[in-house]
Amino acid sequence: MPELPELQALAERLNDALAGRALAAAEVLQFSALKTVNPSPLDLEGRTLQTVERRGKYLIFDFGSARVLVHLSQGGRVDLEEPPKKTRPKGVVMRMSFDDTVSVLVKEFGTERKAAWWVLDPNDEGPLAGLGPEPLGEEFQALVLEGEDNRQLHTFLRDQKVVAGIGRGFADDILHAAMISPFTPLSKLDDGQRRVLLESVRVVMSQATERERERSGGLPAKMSDRFTIHNRHGESCPRCGDTMRRVSFNSREITYCPTCQTEGRVLADRRLSRLLR
Ligand SMILES: [Zn+2]
Repeated sequence: MPELPELQALAERLNDALAGRALAAAEVLQFSALKTVNPSPLDLEGRTLQTVERRGKYLIFDFGSARVLVHLSQGGRVDLEEPPKKTRPKGVVMRMSFDDTVSVLVKEFGTERKAAWWVLDPNDEGPLAGLGPEPLGEEFQALVLEGEDNRQLHTFLRDQKVVAGIGRGFADDILHAAMISPFTPLSKLDDGQRRVLLESVRVVMSQATERERERSGGLPAKMSDRFTIHNRHGESCPRCGDTMRRVSFNSREITYCPTCQTEGRVLADRRLSRLLR
């Protein structure tokens, strides 16, 4: 799933390509993906796109008098089409065409069918209303320094109501960078660990965003090699050389280094241990 770094850099590319252009058409190509009825996508035609920005894992196309939100979820991807196309490749969700010069196509790959979009009045926050703060802002900083959340940190960091933009991939990388177990709750961290966690969030997200800024065009189906730790179980830890492990928790796979994060302990696969109990 694309997370803050991919979406931030994508929003910047889309803004460069599309801002200031008039919308020729917004086409609904997969009916169930459009989550709003009013305003209609037809109402947007002829309006000039002011900016493309990101909030959490949402892309925000601001037309001034209305906004289009796009959430790519697991398998959603974006093509930037210059010149605009009329084709309907497999998994198409929606297409916005601008000025007869460029179009943006949202599609899904694989079997996932969860990418969604909204057309909102300017004062309607839609799904943005439930989002927690951005990971690099002061509000999240205060939450980490003073919060007493009792859930495992991996769950805490992925909760979009707590902090918006981090998914399971970068949660793995952040916790490895901080040398903290994914199963430790925030409430058990001392002041020093809380500061290290915040710094790890900042460094991992900033560096990943910088790497993403080297990409051009839309967002392709294959986005491998984005992670230092996530999905690299069986490989050597880049810090200590121990073999990185994977553990399943609440149907999520978490990758971690026993030496760096769990005092050498290899965590039981909780799904497996439930079956064996
Ligand atoms: Zn290690």
